Amino acid sequence: MAKVTGPDRSIERSTGPTTTRSFPGAASTPITKPSAGRVLTALHAGEYGGNDNLMKILLDLDGVMADLTGGLMRVHNKPWPFGPENRGPDAWYLTNTWEMSADEMWEPCGFDFWAGLQKTLEADQLYQTLCRHFGQENICFLTSPVSTAGCVEGKREWCARHYPATPILFSASSTARFTPGGPKEFLAGPERYLIDDNQDNCKRFEGAGGRAFLWPAWWNDRFEQTHFRMHLLEQEIRHMKHFQEAAEALTVKP
Ligand SMILES: [Mg+2]
Repeated sequence: MAKVTGPDRSIERSTGPTTTRSFPGAASTPITKPSAGRVLTALHAGEYGGNDNLMKILLDLDGVMADLTGGLMRVHNKPWPFGPENRGPDAWYLTNTWEMSADEMWEPCGFDFWAGLQKTLEADQLYQTLCRHFGQENICFLTSPVSTAGCVEGKREWCARHYPATPILFSASSTARFTPGGPKEFLAGPERYLIDDNQDNCKRFEGAGGRAFLWPAWWNDRFEQTHFRMHLLEQEIRHMKHFQEAAEALTVKP
């Protein structure tokens, strides 16, 4: 189980009556007009303490927290599929790369496969970072199971083994057997932050009014940023918080 540190209170929330506040990086952080209702109430996160954080984190499993590629390589005895010649969104479908049908790809993947996937290299660091910024109680896994027997149960077992304090939600088509992304946008809203390696999931989620971070990976649009993804996520979270600070400073209080 990942160790979860307590809230980082290095940034204390101002309680004085003044509306003039400073925050690091403000001068270099562009502040754009927010869409109505978005962000403004959402970011009193874990590092500020308290229970008034309204931002909920929806954290994808496969390709972000769980090493699905590694599991598929083992079960099909295949080499690493994302060499320099096969990167980007066209590389998403391993059925094309490995020249097999979806049935052939997923049929061997039962309970033991899903429960036994290894964590990605950054899984613990990512989880702990999100806990520090948003609070562990505001994180939920959101994953799309395939319809092979044991997948849902195996994913539950995986979470229970590695992150038992965090609940799991499933999103899937009720009819399709193998869907690369379930309808995660049904959970979108101004205070919902999806972290996912599927660019279509992220686009639909943002189109439905949520905020999304496309986790850079060799198989999506942000593949060239794969090596820097933790840094990029932390940078985005910092920008969100700076914006929140600025919005508060500009609010005229009675
Ligand atoms: Mg995924």
